[in-house]
Amino acid sequence: MQAELIEKGVRYLANTYSRNPVAIVKGEGCWVWDMTGRRYLDFLSGIAVCNLGHCHRDVVEAITTQAGKLTHISNLFFIEPQVKAAEALVAHSFGDKVFFCNSGAEANEAAIKLARRYSWKRYGEGRYAIIAMENSFHGRTMATLSATGQRKFHEGFPPMLEGFNFVPFNDLDALKRATDEKTCAVLIELIQAEGGVYVAEKDYIKELRDFTRERDILLIIDEVQTGIGRTGKLFCYEHYGIEPDIISLAKGLGNGFPVGAIIAKDSIMDAFVPGTHASTFGGNPLASAAVLATLNTLINEGVLKQSQKAGEYLFGELVNLKRKYPFITDIRGMGLLLGVEVSVDGDALQKEFLKEGVIINCTKGHILRLVPPLIVTSEEIDIFIKVADKVFERYL
Ligand SMILES: *Cc1c(COP(=O)(O)O)cnc(C)c1O
Repeated sequence: MQAELIEKGVRYLANTYSRNPVAIVKGEGCWVWDMTGRRYLDFLSGIAVCNLGHCHRDVVEAITTQAGKLTHISNLFFIEPQVKAAEALVAHSFGDKVFFCNSGAEANEAAIKLARRYSWKRYGEGRYAIIAMENSFHGRTMATLSATGQRKFHEGFPPMLEGFNFVPFNDLDALKRATDEKTCAVLIELIQAEGGVYVAEKDYIKELRDFTRERDILLIIDEVQTGIGRTGKLFCYEHYGIEPDIISLAKGLGNGFPVGAIIAKDSIMDAFVPGTHASTFGGNPLASAAVLATLNTLINEGVLKQSQKAGEYLFGELVNLKRKYPFITDIRGMGLLLGVEVSVDGDALQKEFLKEGVIINCTKGHILRLVPPLIVTSEEIDIFIKVADKVFERYL
C-alpha cells in the first residue's frame, strides 16, 4: 500500500521536494506512524511547525468545533477567534496590531509591503530598499525570494525584485556601509535556521536596533521559524532585550494549521488602510481557532519552561556525543532549535536516522537541524541520543 502510494506520488506530484520514501498517516505527541504501521520519533515537527506535538488535543478540539460552527466568512466581517487570536498575540508581544495571512512567505511579503508603504507615507518615493542578510531564508514568492540571500534559490528565476541588498550576518559595519537614503528596512532572522542554525550575536542585534532606530529604518525580524516558543521564549527577540518594528510568524503559529501573521506597533501598521493589503483566507475562523488554542496552551500550560529544560538537556547530551565523535564540529542554537554540524555527509546521516526510526532534517548537506516538539520528554531525548550514538558509530 505504501509503495503504491509513493509510486503515485512520484507520478502525480510536482517534483519540488526530495521526499523520503515514507508516507506518514498518523501522529501523536512526538511520534508519527507510516502506512505500514511503523513508528518514528519526530525530531523535525513538520519543519518546526507542530510545536505542541502532533494532534494536540486542545488544537484538535478547537479546529473540529470551529469547523462545525463557521469555517470561512471573509475579512469583510469581524471574526471572533481572529480578534481573540490578535488580542493574545498583542498581549504577549511588543506589538499593537496583527495582520493575518497563510504562510511564512506571505507574512514576509506583508512585512516588506508594510515597510515600503510606511516609508512612502513618511518620506515619499524612492526610500524602498531593504537590507537583508547573506545566507538568509525568507520564502519562495518572488519578493521573499528576492530577499533571500542564497544564490542557489535564485537560479533560473531572475530578474529578482529590485531593492534588496545583502550584507554578511553579524557584521554591523557592513550593514552601515550598505545603508543609504533609499534604505527603509532591515530584514533579519535571529537564527538563520534554514541557513544552518547560525545565531545572531547579542551585541550586534542591540547595536543594529540603535542604528536603525536613529534613522527610522524599520527592523523586521523574521520569526517564522524562531517564533511560537521554538527558542524557549514565545518570540526569539525576547532573548535580545530589544523591540523590533515588525515580526513575521507562521510555522508554529497554528500547530500545523496553515496560518501566518505579522505584528507591528500602531504607528507602523497604520500605513495599511483598506485596499492596501489583503488575503481572502487570512485569519479565517478555522485558522484563527487553531492559533488561539495553540497560544493558550503554549502560554498557560508551562510548555515554554518545559521546553527550555528539554533544550538544555538535549544540548548537553549532544555535547557529550561531540566528545566521542570528532566529525561533529559544532553544536549551536537556542531552545529546541539546534544544529549539529558534521564533517561527514549529513544527508546520508539523515537517511540513517530514518532507517532507525528517527526523523531529523539536514540543511546545507552537513548541518543536522533538530527541532523536536516543545513537549519532548527527557525519555524521548534519551531515545534520540541512543539512536544518534548508534548511527554516528558507523561513521567513526
Ligand atoms: C519556513 C520559513 C519561511 C517560509 O515559510 P513558508 O510558510 O514556507 O512560506 C520564511 N522564513 C523563515 C525563517 C522560515 O523558516
